[in-house]
Amino acid sequence: MIQKGLLVVLSGPSGAGKGTVCKAMLPAMPEMGYSISCTTRQPRQGEVEGVNYFFKTREQFEQMIRNDELLEWAEVYGNYYGTPLRYVEEQLSEGRNVLLEIDIQGALQVKKKYPNGVFIFLIPPSLEELKKRILGRGSETEESFKLRFGSAAEEMNYINEYDYVVVNDKVEQAVDRIRSIIYAELCSVKRNREYYNKLIQEGTKHAVSFD
Ligand code: 5GP
Repeated sequence: MIQKGLLVVLSGPSGAGKGTVCKAMLPAMPEMGYSISCTTRQPRQGEVEGVNYFFKTREQFEQMIRNDELLEWAEVYGNYYGTPLRYVEEQLSEGRNVLLEIDIQGALQVKKKYPNGVFIFLIPPSLEELKKRILGRGSETEESFKLRFGSAAEEMNYINEYDYVVVNDKVEQAVDRIRSIIYAELCSVKRNREYYNKLIQEGTKHAVSFD
């Protein structure tokens, strides 16, 4: 797969604040495309088709799986979530950067296909705070809270699969850190080796000897 742009994957346990962080970060990063996921879960109040998610029936989603239209997909808390493949491929091959906000199962699948991606794990400052955040949504039943909290605590075990960890204590700080990571990666010599080698070759032709 041709990958000229930078693929950034932000994931982490439910309640870490991935959605809030993305919402705060994206307006200030016009060079970063955002992949809108498909899901079979019901829209929450205020969510808009094609902005927050592409809302699908289970049949439609399963058809997308069969057609290989998804870069990755996972079943999260009883619903399907997945990343449309075409948008990501187009953006990357045209040299644009793309951000995916997905769960850990999805991130692991993406890592296999795009090992050059940047994988950022967002964590809450504490499990106590995580509990508050999940409950604060007000959309959880006791059962779904237990499921989300239990899985989130378990998901902390995946930190080692990631390149960076960002603690989401204050949203602005988390956004600053993620932006710094992305800019550092965009400036990385290792990542841009091909481009710099050309620059060096070009430079060699005009080099002046200092002897
Ligand atoms: P929510 O229902 O709160 O919007 O999202 C639930 C979980 O699904 C979150 O952890 C979110 O990151 C994850 N998620 C959202 N979109 C995708 C996707 O396209 N793929 C995967 N694997 N997870 C996703």
